[in-house]
Amino acid sequence: MTNAWPNGRAFAFYDRSEVAISQLGEQLQALGARLEAALGDVRDGAALDDVRVRFLGRSGEITALRRAIGNLPPAERPEAGKIINAAVTGWEAIVASKADELQRRALDTQLEIAIDVTFPAPPARSGSLHPLRRALEDACGYFERRGFAVVLGPEIETEYYNFDALNIPADHPAREGLDSFYFGDGRLLRTHTSPMQIRTMQAHPPPVAIVTSGKAYRRDGIDARHSPMFHQIEGLLVAPGIHMGHLKGMLTGMCRELFGPNQAVRFRPSFFPFTEPSAEVDTTCPGCAGTGSAAGDPGCKTCGGSGWIELGGSGMVHPGVLRESGYDPDVVSGFAFGVGIERIAMVQHDLDDIRVLFENDPKVLAQLA
Ligand SMILES: [Zn+2]
Repeated sequence: MTNAWPNGRAFAFYDRSEVAISQLGEQLQALGARLEAALGDVRDGAALDDVRVRFLGRSGEITALRRAIGNLPPAERPEAGKIINAAVTGWEAIVASKADELQRRALDTQLEIAIDVTFPAPPARSGSLHPLRRALEDACGYFERRGFAVVLGPEIETEYYNFDALNIPADHPAREGLDSFYFGDGRLLRTHTSPMQIRTMQAHPPPVAIVTSGKAYRRDGIDARHSPMFHQIEGLLVAPGIHMGHLKGMLTGMCRELFGPNQAVRFRPSFFPFTEPSAEVDTTCPGCAGTGSAAGDPGCKTCGGSGWIELGGSGMVHPGVLRESGYDPDVVSGFAFGVGIERIAMVQHDLDDIRVLFENDPKVLAQLA
């Protein structure tokens, strides 16, 4: 017989006298039909739990039926228990599959919300080239437009190309292990981009006009001006009649194109084994516009108060280097220079510390874009 709880829900109540093993199958079938009908109305997890408790819970209908079989003759009880257990196993599977279905439906709903095509899209963020890449392309671009070819070379070099061919003898202090990263087999991480001068001249007869750029490595500590890995642009022009005037004109032109028309360029006599004469190249400090003092501070942080920023080294290619490359120094002459890309970026963006170029904080990079 079927009764109703005060909340109106139907439930089965088994009078002990109603239970007989011959009727058990029929009773289970009726119970199963009501369970499935109740599941049909379930729309969420809470309602499903409710149904589970009502039919299969400790105080649910199936428990009432189990209790009622205590009234059967003892010989029939095990059989009745088996029949009930088999039915319960089937119902539990039905409830579990309903739970799966609810979960799938909830996920589908979430996905429908997630792909709402009418939802306003977040604003697109455009990327930009890294300041070092831009400085490198700006500098290379200046020379390319003047007929220089861009060549690239290996970062792992032999001692021959990195030192010997560039007139840097075996006893030169620059070759000490303290300054360079050696592999222990006669190779090292190139300490400058100058090996490409030799590789180019050995591969091509004069005249040559090239720029090469990329990474170079030295055992420097990291500070505001130095890093063990840095970038250079190297230039080489060899032809009959090339002199210092061509070098000064080209580098001054580059600084004015990259930094502005009023940029001053200074050449300081210096020494490099592979050029003669040699000069260091300085340009007007962007922090103080060359005055040496910035924002009331008498010692400009960017240039240390000198008013100048050193860009790199330059000079006329040493006759020994030309000869080593198979060129005749009596017929051709040439200039060469190596300029730090970090230095160019410092001047372009008025930076007083190159470390911001390697830390790659997206906020800082966005400011420099
Ligand atoms: Zn300054």
